[in-house]
Amino acid sequence: MEQPKLAIVVPCYNEEAVLPASAKVLRNILQEMIDKGQVHATSKILFVNDGSRDNTWKLIQQLEKQDSLLTGLKFSRNFGHQNALMAGMEIAGKYADCVITIDADLQDDENLIPTMITSYQAGNEIVLGVRNDRSSDSKFKRWTAETFYSLMGKVGVQLVPDHADFRLLGKRAIAVLMEYQETNLFLRGIVPQLGFSTDKLYYQRKPRLAGETKYPLKKMLSFAFNGITSFSVAPIKAIMSLGLLVIGISLIMMVYTFIRFFTGNVINGWSSLMISLWFLGGVQLIGISIIGEYIGNIYDEVKHRPRYIIETDNYSRTQQSDPEHTATEAK
Ligand code: UDP
Ligand code: MG
Repeated sequence: MEQPKLAIVVPCYNEEAVLPASAKVLRNILQEMIDKGQVHATSKILFVNDGSRDNTWKLIQQLEKQDSLLTGLKFSRNFGHQNALMAGMEIAGKYADCVITIDADLQDDENLIPTMITSYQAGNEIVLGVRNDRSSDSKFKRWTAETFYSLMGKVGVQLVPDHADFRLLGKRAIAVLMEYQETNLFLRGIVPQLGFSTDKLYYQRKPRLAGETKYPLKKMLSFAFNGITSFSVAPIKAIMSLGLLVIGISLIMMVYTFIRFFTGNVINGWSSLMISLWFLGGVQLIGISIIGEYIGNIYDEVKHRPRYIIETDNYSRTQQSDPEHTATEAK
């Protein structure tokens, strides 16, 4: 494949502060690759506006007018980062040979993009960007991330540590990815399951170019929890171990109770009774809530609701009016 057609997908949620700057950086990189003949001239940068409440969409529309390399699509409301990535890949994957996803804040190293393409041309269907350094993240974020990856490893979910959502996927990988119909999307877990020849490229993560994180602690925790429950039933199995432990303790308590009974000392058992009552109540509630979490997930999945709703898709429009595309379609 001489010149692959590339689409760079950029999810955007309230990114007005950073968008003009990152659009400029990305378009220059793409322009340079087109000029060098590394990628096809019909390659695009696709901004996915994930229901932003600020001026992000207006900015995207302005950028589209000024620059034919830039284009956008708009969700009808906020559907979340993972769904924005999925939509970008699904739509761009219909026209492009490969798609690179990168966050709007350019914390990931955009200069890796040409190297990703080189790796793709060398035959890799998947190219993962992996951070080799988290010094720009806060101590807390680093700690939560480390705990998360080690926990995921323990419950048996195969992840590539420190790989987020900066990656290249070829058309074939995207087609297979689209067959994963789940509502609770955790792309970092699914991508390693796809197989295909995979390459890893290392880079240093930068601080956010501008604006604030769109992953506050609550969202981060629910994302992490969702990652575990959508890939592993280890928490449910852990309830079994907990139950066995509690039964073990209760056997000891039984022996103790008999001894007290036969020594005629049975009245003053109030404290131990109260403690075990509340303790067992807590254990049972935790057990039920973990099972409930899985039932909740099943509930979400069986409804089979659309993962996202697109209000405007300017990318497909530019592609359909592109004579070269129509020509390849007709073949
Ligand atoms: N994002 C999104 N929808 C959301 C939340 C975030 O599309 O509901 C995008 C956001 O615009 C950014 C990317 O996801 O491009 C990653 O978010 P952020 O940089 O805030 O996360 P962090 O790097 O702090 O984990
Ligand atoms: Mg970020």
